[in-house]
Amino acid sequence: MEELIKKLNAVMASENIRRNEPMKNYTSFKVGGPVDILLMPQTKQEVAEALSICRDTDISLYIMGNGSNLLVQDGGVRGIILQTKALKHVEIDGETLMAEPGITLKDLADIALEEKLTGLEFASGIPGTLGGAVTMNAGAYDGEMKNIVASIEVIDENGNLKTIPVEACDFGYRTSVMQKYGWLLIGINLNLRKGDYNEIKNKMMDFNARRQEKQPLEYPSAGSTFRRPEGYYAGKLVQDAGFRGYCIGGAQVSEKHSGFVINKGDATAADILELIATIQAGVKEKFGVELATEVIVIGEP
Ligand SMILES: Cc1cc2nc3c(=O)[nH]c(=O)nc-3n(C[C@H](O)[C@H](O)[C@H](O)COP(=O)(O)OP(=O)(O)OC[C@H]3O[C@@H](n4cnc5c(N)ncnc54)[C@H](O)[C@@H]3O)c2cc1C
Repeated sequence: MEELIKKLNAVMASENIRRNEPMKNYTSFKVGGPVDILLMPQTKQEVAEALSICRDTDISLYIMGNGSNLLVQDGGVRGIILQTKALKHVEIDGETLMAEPGITLKDLADIALEEKLTGLEFASGIPGTLGGAVTMNAGAYDGEMKNIVASIEVIDENGNLKTIPVEACDFGYRTSVMQKYGWLLIGINLNLRKGDYNEIKNKMMDFNARRQEKQPLEYPSAGSTFRRPEGYYAGKLVQDAGFRGYCIGGAQVSEKHSGFVINKGDATAADILELIATIQAGVKEKFGVELATEVIVIGEP
């Protein structure tokens, strides 16, 4: 580990190499124990160099954006987490937007609005980075990332920079090619269309008002806890199984939206996981439906 830190210090500033860093400070659920090493590279070059150094060891490596779809367990993460949040550069060429993975969807949607580009409105209220959104094929209302991605640039498992056209991104419901390999997403090209400033703005405001009204945004969470099972709505199944408002420790099924497990303030990851397991068992027993989590669980108990 000391040898690794020494090599990393040669390619990035020491304040961006954090040891035993509590992951509850880096996830929207606000839970999670410490990661051995958290890397926060500031440039593409730092990302590429740090990645190459890490991959030369047998220490496990996980890549993250804004942590808004992650549940980190209380025992934390053994190994390295590399966060791509600092890479935020954006360039615009006509209707094409080329962006680094760390820009938030909100900031990107605001840039698109100023450029009178339409297509990203659906994403403006999703609290993740572009990199996380492409990996998850995030979607809401009338849109999904797969509809606007033209191509992505990745650093592959051998350290090579590759451009992957949208046809090879293998986008599905909250899935993409990114989940299959240990690639790092370093750039994204989006195809938007020229539109009307006020129409774009009104659409964004409408979607965000609907979120405010329907979702428990006042509490930490990772968004929809469960994937939508075919033919059902996860939130309705959870509610109809009697779990609305149900608590385990500091974790609760939101009273406002049963599809969200929230952290009422002092939840542990163990509380959240126990609540998720209880809901899954209850829904299976009552309706025979298996609820799979959309939230990604990492780390150790
Ligand atoms: C209140 C709330 C509302 C939400 N609403 C929605 C919604 O409407 N629709 C929706 O789809 N989701 C929603 N989410 C979930 C979440 O915001 C999205 O999945 C988001 O796209 C995740 O982005 P992130 O940067 O936080 O990724 P993270 O949670 O950090 O990571 C998610 C995945 O992406 C991978 N990843 C991230 N960056 C990179 C990279 N550069 N290279 C390779 N892999 C990478 C990670 O390894 C992980 O597998 C919501 C979450 C919250 C808290």
